[in-house]
Amino acid sequence: MISGQTLVAGVVGWPVRHSMSPLIHNHWLQAGGVDGVYVAFSPPKDGFSAFASGLRGGAIRGLNVTLPFKEQALSLASGAGDQVSDIARLSGAANLVLFDSDGSVRVDNTDGEGLLYAFARQAPSLNLTSALVVILGAGGAARGAAAALILAGVPRVHIVNRTLEKAQSIASALGPKVQAFVPTQAEAAFDGAGAVINATSLGLGGGEGPAVPWQSVSEGTVFMDMVYRPLETDFLAKAKARGHQMVDGLDMLIGQARPSFEAFFGAPPTPSVDVRAIALAQLTAA
Ligand code: NAP
Repeated sequence: MISGQTLVAGVVGWPVRHSMSPLIHNHWLQAGGVDGVYVAFSPPKDGFSAFASGLRGGAIRGLNVTLPFKEQALSLASGAGDQVSDIARLSGAANLVLFDSDGSVRVDNTDGEGLLYAFARQAPSLNLTSALVVILGAGGAARGAAAALILAGVPRVHIVNRTLEKAQSIASALGPKVQAFVPTQAEAAFDGAGAVINATSLGLGGGEGPAVPWQSVSEGTVFMDMVYRPLETDFLAKAKARGHQMVDGLDMLIGQARPSFEAFFGAPPTPSVDVRAIALAQLTAA
């Protein structure tokens, strides 16, 4: 039931209809008996700023932000009293905007927390603080992942991208622990990797994943794919066939939603509902 005190939060993107966030948050709300609702918004592609600025003052508690608005969400926090978290600044993008009643906004990026949650759940024996992590891709997700990994104490991150300048730009933003490579240098980039993350959009919808120089991959290397449609991507299937441990993108999605939920509704999500199983059922039915 919607009441006069129902807290409202949502996700904004374009397009947004395939977002799994309403499914996840509304199951947590229902199971936790929280008087809140989570909806999806899709302003025109050039209308994010007008849309989000109109919510200042706390018309709603906050927003998760997805493509193509994550960079604009960071820029939203440009007024006196607005706040930007360190991870959002380092990531160059925000996926969480909170609207306070005094008209200020707080922006954050929980994608990195989602990535670490996924590793903790599915590869708990991997010690990231002594691992070389290879990230394939240098878009927004790769930049956020690299920032989160460095802040979490990962000693070395190698970014492999077909457009070297984009990988170099992440390396120069994050410092000497991050190095940039092109795919033809992949053997050197993969040498000694403890984990490899696909942060390209390759494999989405069942296509072929990024190339891996398997001869340079050690036995214990963990493979993670941010793509979760399908859940077992081509990249993960090839790693699994070679006996590698896998981490899928669905737990990253759930892991970024958890701190967002707490920020919107004031309490962590209840463990009494298995949102992964619910999301998996939806993915399988789609
Ligand atoms: P993006 O900014 O558009 O970046 C896409 C990356 O993929 C770029 O590095 C691009 O290389 C590379 N790429 C695209 N097509 C390629 C091709 N044919 N060959 C080689 N490289 C190619 O996207 P993003 O926001 O970073 O997202 C990347 C993926 O992560 C998406 O599939 C997204 O759905 C997923 N993601 C998942 C989660 C989650 O919660 N699981 C969260 C965030 C993102 P160039 O730089 O050379 O163009």
